[in-house]
Amino acid sequence: MSEDHFKKIISHAKEFGFIFPSSEIYDGLSATYDYGQNGVELKNNIKKYWWKSMVQMNKDIVGLDAAIFMHPTTWKASGHVDAFNDPLIDNKDSKKRYRADVLIEDFIAKIHEKNEKDILKAKKRFGESFNEETFTTTNPNILRRNKQIAEVNEKMTSAFNSDDLNEIYNLIIELGITCPVSGSKNWTEVRQFNLMFGTEIGSVADESSTIYLRPETAQGIFVNYLNVQKTSRKKLPFGIAQIGKAFRNEIIARQFIFRMREFEQMEMQFFIKPGTQKEWYDYWKKQRMSWHKSLGIENDKLQFHDHVKLAHYADAACDIEFKFPFGFKELEGIHSRTDFDLKQHELYSKKKQRYFDPETNESYIPYVIETSIGLDRMFLTLLSNGLKEEKLDDGSSRTLFSVAPALAPTKAAILPLVKKDGLSEIGTDLYNKLKLDFECGYDEKDSIGKRYRRQDAVGTPFCITVDHDTKIDQKVTLRERDTMIQERVSIDEVSNIVSKKVNMNSLF
Ligand code: ATP
Repeated sequence: MSEDHFKKIISHAKEFGFIFPSSEIYDGLSATYDYGQNGVELKNNIKKYWWKSMVQMNKDIVGLDAAIFMHPTTWKASGHVDAFNDPLIDNKDSKKRYRADVLIEDFIAKIHEKNEKDILKAKKRFGESFNEETFTTTNPNILRRNKQIAEVNEKMTSAFNSDDLNEIYNLIIELGITCPVSGSKNWTEVRQFNLMFGTEIGSVADESSTIYLRPETAQGIFVNYLNVQKTSRKKLPFGIAQIGKAFRNEIIARQFIFRMREFEQMEMQFFIKPGTQKEWYDYWKKQRMSWHKSLGIENDKLQFHDHVKLAHYADAACDIEFKFPFGFKELEGIHSRTDFDLKQHELYSKKKQRYFDPETNESYIPYVIETSIGLDRMFLTLLSNGLKEEKLDDGSSRTLFSVAPALAPTKAAILPLVKKDGLSEIGTDLYNKLKLDFECGYDEKDSIGKRYRRQDAVGTPFCITVDHDTKIDQKVTLRERDTMIQERVSIDEVSNIVSKKVNMNSLF
């Protein structure tokens, strides 16, 4: 994958009605995007699949839809007012602002890239006799670079763990990190920047009336955990899941929908007995990774990344990373959050947040394992994974969006070969029948070849062509998107055949 591929994804997303820059007629608003006619369908289908897998297929998990605004003390208790900061640094020449940790991580990623290049070169040179393990454990260049990576990681972790902004600045200078825009090392000091958007509630603008747009959906779950537990009569372990908007005033808002200021999260908090967190953490890691694989995401584009620097609330944490066109980056976080949040809410609200365990007759604050995925990042994952330029046998090429049929914005497009001779009427009848079973499209403009290409580009798994023979044999041509195989099937059978293939159940 490459920068070119990324540019292609962005322009494709716009051209085919997936994603538009927000308020584009006013030149857009940075890091804010709108989902178009195909985007909203794909996004809704991702939500549906997540909700079904996490809530409806789990007897121990229920859903919630909490408000975006929450009592301001929520964010004091959760630590967001004091600690939801990013360390920022400015380049004095380009006037560009960066996250200091990202600059250092990018520096490390470049060293990794050099190692990968050397491994690839050696693979080519030695052919079948190449042994990667021997090479990476003996090659002096690789060993030297790995040592450097370990040293930089160690220094970075120690600086962050002790909140030593000077040390972070020193590390950036020591590594000779330059600004990607100006190329200079003329940096300001490192400062902390709170990522929450604040606003005033009501008409009085004093401090007590400042409220925040939630920076994560999780706190809505924590403050409702006893409401849900008592009314659902759930016993531990049980989970609460929620899909909703979150807002962060990101310092560097680039990379399209990867890092937005307004985005959507799909989060699940699993409440467990203290002491069982390791077992449940491993369980949810496995579950979530297989969820991604069920969507046909290529195995070598997914990996776990353990956190070196643990957040103040976590005793273990990792990311599921996807290989985006700009490298492996976080798609989903899995965090063992201990009893931190509930304990804090008990402290600040002075309301007991304890669970009475009927098996042991004890009361305690549950521990929590969280799975937290960005809906927009999942959307970008599917686009990055599925968008392909394919050479065809006749020398032409096509743009194909190969996405799991159950998630495709349109499941089947009905295409009368021509508008006349009664074919439109047959097509419209078929559309009216099939639209009850799955999302259908209807297109009778341009040549059939062009129409197939348009459907391939938006990921429609099936095209149904009505032609003159249909009037005689009551059959239509069913064309499958990825293989382009066409078969004649009876009109009465179409619904059954397509339904089976596009049904979400086929993903489980
Ligand atoms: P990052 O390190 O990339 O800033 P994070 O560790 O702060 O992410 P979490 O707080 O763990 O992210 O949020 C959970 C998930 O929410 C992330 O895995 C990601 O998919 C999504 N997410 C977080 N911030 C954004 C954003 N600004 N835009 C889009 N999605 C986001």
